[in-house]
Amino acid sequence: MPAAQAESFIRALATANPAPETELIYHDPFTLLVAVVLSAQATDAAVNRCTPALFAAAPTPERMAALGAEGIGPYIRSIGLWQAKAKNVGALARDLVDKHGGRVPGDREALEALPGVGRKTANVVLNIAFGQNTMAVDTHIFRLGNRCGLAPGKTPRDVEDMLVRRCPPDLLRDAHHWLILHGRYVCKARAPECWRCVARAFCNYRDKVLAPPA
Ligand code: SF4
Repeated sequence: MPAAQAESFIRALATANPAPETELIYHDPFTLLVAVVLSAQATDAAVNRCTPALFAAAPTPERMAALGAEGIGPYIRSIGLWQAKAKNVGALARDLVDKHGGRVPGDREALEALPGVGRKTANVVLNIAFGQNTMAVDTHIFRLGNRCGLAPGKTPRDVEDMLVRRCPPDLLRDAHHWLILHGRYVCKARAPECWRCVARAFCNYRDKVLAPPA
């Protein structure tokens, strides 16, 4: 897809939703980090059902570290992989207290060194909490990038790098939200809802679904 077409695609999403936001519930960089770690292979809605009670019980790294994996587990049992996530959240809270003065670090290397934090999670936190122009590629963005020709790639990192190159700099920070929301609600995995897609004119997908199922 030529750069001008890619820009038009993203600008169409931007025009339709000028102030996009994450759907995860969070209050500060710490609760954002925890919510994003919990959201791996789980929906934001599932995470949001658990986190208000968890964050009320442990709103800070100190309190979360004191709760520990055993104390965190009961709050998140309805989320996939909850045991591993309880362990990671307890350990990352402990690391924040011991190594970062109880604050979430604003650099990639330090974030990715925390238990349960990979490149995608670091990208989300750097983008939302620290205002950096990162592109976190989740399953929705990976599918969308390949399907519509915006950013074809074999790995999430390929798609990330291509999107960072193709996004106009003024749109890069919010593009993460636009693309996730578009993949989640319109360009869906099984059947994209092309008939109501605001970026349809700029999409290269050959098998567009141009009418809702009868
Ligand atoms: S036209 Fe269809 S395939 Fe293309 S981006 Fe929109 S929903 Fe996805």
